[in-house]
Amino acid sequence: MLANRTCSRRPHQTASARAFAHQNSSRATPASPILQVRQTLVVCCVCILVLVGTLPRTVFASGPSATLFDISQVADGVFVHTGRHVGIAHGERGDSANAGFIVGTKCVAVVDSGGAIEVGKALHQAIKERSALPICYVINTHIHFDHVLGNAAFAGPTVKFVGHTELAEALVNNREFFGENFAKELGGSSPSEIVEPTLNVEDTLQLDIGDRLLTLQAVPLAHSHTDLTVFDEQTKTLFSGDLVFIDRLPIVDGSLRGWLAWITEARTRPIQRVVPGHGPSSAPWPHGVQSLEAYLSVLLTDGRDAVRNGVTLEEAIATMSRSAARKWLVNDRHRRNVSKVYRELEWE
Ligand SMILES: [Zn+2]
Repeated sequence: MLANRTCSRRPHQTASARAFAHQNSSRATPASPILQVRQTLVVCCVCILVLVGTLPRTVFASGPSATLFDISQVADGVFVHTGRHVGIAHGERGDSANAGFIVGTKCVAVVDSGGAIEVGKALHQAIKERSALPICYVINTHIHFDHVLGNAAFAGPTVKFVGHTELAEALVNNREFFGENFAKELGGSSPSEIVEPTLNVEDTLQLDIGDRLLTLQAVPLAHSHTDLTVFDEQTKTLFSGDLVFIDRLPIVDGSLRGWLAWITEARTRPIQRVVPGHGPSSAPWPHGVQSLEAYLSVLLTDGRDAVRNGVTLEEAIATMSRSAARKWLVNDRHRRNVSKVYRELEWE
């Protein structure tokens, strides 16, 4: 509760300052020079005490852990850490995705664990600061490293790992890749410690975390082949994983048409807000998905035109939908998207 702690002190400090000012202004007679010196000393001492009193929290709030790990409450009992908009080549890529948790009356469910062990540990610590309840579920929204590499930070006998029915196999198949490419993010631990789900969702699964139901839905090929959404029935909050990108360029790693079909279906659902895989901690629904849908629709239209008009894959990669990509941050993977989309649409 770093932000809350810092904020909660401000009214107290303001009230103290006001009370102090009131005491001084209520004096009926002017103070003597000696008294004025004493008052000045008292004021200085009080200022130093106030400063010293705030120092540990101020330093903590602006230190690495707070900078790394801001948490905001987006709805009653729903908390989100927002990742940074950094590219895959960036040194701090382990903290590039959103991660969060939902607190019931029985236990806590974590949704995504970050892209590094350190991020997972920071999330775990943030949960302990907000709830004494045990963590019962760690739910991964899909296979990509920035959502799963923090899993080991939560491993324990009472914690169940949950994922799309294809996720466990995908994690096992990617262990070597993760080990070779994400040694820093794994913090010296072996990729064999990346925890895979034991509770697999083939279609829909409901979890009860105590007076609170979470509906998990496995999605057919869309952003990836392992997408899983988490819907908090109490606050109508949807954790979409990377089925929703905001601000940062979406990555097509599954099926463009499948992704657009998911958006069309999800648009009509009674969702209050979405927690995207990348972007702000939450956004209203369906407004939060509009930019993504626009970008994917341009890729579909331009991709079909390119295939129909005999544009080669290389030409398409060099030229296609570039103005649509420029509207997004960290958009260096647009060319890769075009390549993926072209090859999908080629076989329509
Ligand atoms: Zn992803």
